[in-house]
This record gives sequence, structure tokens and C-alpha cells, in this order.
Amino acid sequence: MTQSTQAKPVLIVGSVALDTVKTPFGEVRDALGGAAVYSSVAASFFAPVQLVGIVGTDFPEKHLRFLSSRNIDLAGLQRVKGKTFRWAGEYEYDINKRRTLSTELNVFERFRPHIPEAYRDAKYVFLANIDPELQLEVLAQVKNPVLVMCDTMNFWIEGKRDALIEVLKKVDIVLLNDEEARQLCNTPSLVKASRDIRAFGPSVVVIKKGEHGAIMVTDKAHFSAPSYPLEEVADPTGAGDAFAGGFIGYIAATGNTSETNLRKATIYGSTLASFCVEDFSLGRLATLSPEEIVARYCEFRQIAFFEPL
Ligand code: AMP
Repeated sequence: MTQSTQAKPVLIVGSVALDTVKTPFGEVRDALGGAAVYSSVAASFFAPVQLVGIVGTDFPEKHLRFLSSRNIDLAGLQRVKGKTFRWAGEYEYDINKRRTLSTELNVFERFRPHIPEAYRDAKYVFLANIDPELQLEVLAQVKNPVLVMCDTMNFWIEGKRDALIEVLKKVDIVLLNDEEARQLCNTPSLVKASRDIRAFGPSVVVIKKGEHGAIMVTDKAHFSAPSYPLEEVADPTGAGDAFAGGFIGYIAATGNTSETNLRKATIYGSTLASFCVEDFSLGRLATLSPEEIVARYCEFRQIAFFEPL
């Protein structure tokens, strides 16, 4: 899988962070992170990326060079006086259980997404997990997108529900994890939740189930992506964002939103997520090759294959 010449750019808006993460298998301090970073690097395997976010003066140059080297355009990355957004988290042996230790918004507190003129024609847009009011500001600046996908989190479901519902009315695909889907729809059933979320507006709902795979639901399909049997997970941070980047990157590369292609995008998303967790920070995505992506995509097919009757 390499970027095809027909691939249209993906506009990605979200956090750029310095993460401090501890898992039972190691720890990193002030490592490159943020939802927009994970999703941009994952998407860049398929399509050019335009990243919109904010960092402080302490953000290391080497991270900027790394992102630029991946065909990620940084014209929309605001660099302002102050400290970069920092997040710290810790995982237990049950790697699905995460505890946020601290969130220092720093310059992120002042973030108002300004979409550069050259990005306003973007056809593929990913609104990573930020305040839904900012997600709406982004959409007001983008002219005529073909496909908009958004992510969110429990914090916004609790605190900014009305704005989030406004976002849902305007997007084609919503991506969230199982816990968030249950919380948003007040039901234990993911089947019901995916139906109720679609009633808000999006035609496609993708629910990520951590190490247990993902489901992609449309009015016609209920597709279930298997989990990839990894023996060791070093750090699950960013898996959901890597999923999002792989998913929308593949759609932008193919320009095809048929159900068949959405299924393939779900597997590419799962593939990128499974690589992401093999190392801390962007460690694994930085060394990943297109050939490895294709090989794992094929493995996913094998995992879910069974003979017909
Ligand atoms: P994920 O593991 O997919 O939930 O995403 C993890 C990334 O989200 C980390 O790299 C964090 O820097 C970033 N993050 C954590 N909290 C927030 C927040 N409140 N807003 C935006 N990004 C966040």
C-alpha cells in the first residue's frame, strides 16, 4: 500500500501533544503524541495529509521534521508562545483500562482552528477528538467536503452534548469506542447505540472495541472486524486515532465510499491500529512499511475467513 497518484488530501484537525505514558511494559516521558499526530501519520501511508493543530515553542524541531518527512503539510500547524499540550496516562495489565494522570492544556486552551485557504477545498476531513464547538468551527470553514468523519470522547458527551449532536448532524461517519457509544445513547447494546447514533445524522457508525476489534454499521450492513492476535501490546495510546487515519486515508486514496470499500477501510484502520500499539509513541508507525501493511491486511482476512455451508 503506497500513496496512489489519485489520492486526495485528508484534512485532519486535532491535538498535537507531548505524552507521558506508563504501561506494565515500559514508560516514556514527553513523547510525540496527540490524536492529530497519530491519525495523520497513519493516513499518510495512503494519502497526503494537511494537519491543523497547535504547539508551543517547546515542541521539538525533530518532531516537525518527522511529520514533514511523511508528506504531512504543516502550514496549518500554529506555533505560538507557551507550552505544548501535555497528557499523561497509565495502563494496567488489562490494557483496555486506562487512567488519565494529568491533562495540561497549555497552548491548546487557546486553540481556534484556522483552516488555511489552500485547505478549504478539502474533500476528506477528519475531526479528531476536540471540543465539538471547535469541530463546528472547522466545518464552517470547509467548502464542499465529500466525506467528513469525527471522533469524540466521554468528556464532550457529558459536558457538550448539544454541540456534539450538532456535529453529528453534519458528519458522514462517526467513530467512537464502545463505552462512549453506550454513554451517548444510554443503552448497553452497541447494536441499538449504532442505530440511535445514525438517527442523529451520520450514515456510518464505527465502534472501536479496544483489543476486541471494531464494528462498522450502515443502514444495510453490520460488519465486524476481528481483533488482531498480538502477543505483546507495548502501549495502546493512539490506537483509535491510528484506526481513524488508516480508515479515512484509504477512502481518500480510492475515492470510493461503497459498502465494500468501507469494509476494506475498516480493516485498514484495524491494521494501522494493531501496528500502533506494538511500540510506545509513534515508534512503530515510524518504521512501518507499506509491505507490512499489505501483509497484515491479508492476515486479517485469514483470521475472519470460514467456509460457507
Ligand atoms: P487515544 O488513545 O486514541 O484515545 O488517543 C490518545 C491521544 O489523545 C494522546 O496522544 C493524547 O495526547 C491525546 N489526548 C488525551 N486527552 C485529550 C484531550 N482532552 N483532547 C485532545 N487530545 C487528547
